[in-house]
Amino acid sequence: MGWFQRLSEGLGRTRHVVQQSLDRFLGRAPDEELLEELEAALLAADLGANAVDRLMRQVREETRGVDAQTSEGIQNVLSRSLYSILKTVAGPTIDQLVTEGPKPFVTLVVGVNGVGKTTTIAKIAQRMMQAGRRPLLVAGDTFRAAAIDQLQVWGDRVGVEVIRQRHGADPAAVAFDGVVAAKARMVDVVLIDTAGRLHTKSNLMDELRKVKRVIAQELPGAPHEVLLVLDATVGQNALAQARQFHEAVGVTGLALTKLDGTARGGIVVAIAEELKLPLRLIGVGEGADDLQDFNAEAFVAALFGQPTSRS
Ligand code: GDP
Repeated sequence: MGWFQRLSEGLGRTRHVVQQSLDRFLGRAPDEELLEELEAALLAADLGANAVDRLMRQVREETRGVDAQTSEGIQNVLSRSLYSILKTVAGPTIDQLVTEGPKPFVTLVVGVNGVGKTTTIAKIAQRMMQAGRRPLLVAGDTFRAAAIDQLQVWGDRVGVEVIRQRHGADPAAVAFDGVVAAKARMVDVVLIDTAGRLHTKSNLMDELRKVKRVIAQELPGAPHEVLLVLDATVGQNALAQARQFHEAVGVTGLALTKLDGTARGGIVVAIAEELKLPLRLIGVGEGADDLQDFNAEAFVAALFGQPTSRS
């Protein structure tokens, strides 16, 4: 399966919600009832109230006075408007950052438990290996013994060294060891896992701030990326998480996982509209190839299906 098919398949449930409503416009003028249904569908897909307002204003403006607007016409207005929102968060990819950034390029990976941090780190490491780069993993979630072991299992599988200490060790000390090792071994990129127990606990945020500080002391300018991993299936909650992490540690990039498991894939749009943080990666499945660089144009195409000749 090609990457676009994976993306398209991953967004299937979300597409279904929107497409059902668009299909109702077939051969009919866009009356108020249909427009309200479309609005409800976009909200159900979790695009968020602000983005939906903006999109619907655009649709209403462009369809006013048009008697027999086609479903394809509406789709085109939506596609264009969505693209203009999404392109604002399509920043440089991880590969571009690593290529253009300092060596070692230090990435601190943050996010609450279960969002997919460890698997995302493993997938990035695998991708780096395939591109001929040398990554190093750092098991900074010392709060859970299982997290250290899980990262080690991934490291062994992908063939990447893991810097670790015992369960309960100071995460800042592990991060420090990781950066020292990265400099000594001249690796290209360091991926530091962190604890993710509930973000409402202020001690987690204090801990992350300390980790960040210690990294910067050992390597000025680092971490070069603070990547926040968010789970698309929690919908609007992801926005609240993002705000808290951003306030505490200054997020520089986002990875949004599990878009394949949800009909609320519109959360990508809400994130773009509300947070304005670069969306680097999206997860559309559990396989290694299912972590993709975010591409605004492809995302819109996958969300609305391939253009059709319907009128
Ligand atoms: P962590 O606690 O944040 O480190 O989360 P894990 O990396 O352990 O991931 C939690 C679960 O989410 C695992 O079962 C992963 O396989 C799964 N997962 C991660 N990313 C994706 C994705 O894009 N799609 C799906 N369907 N599952 C994912």
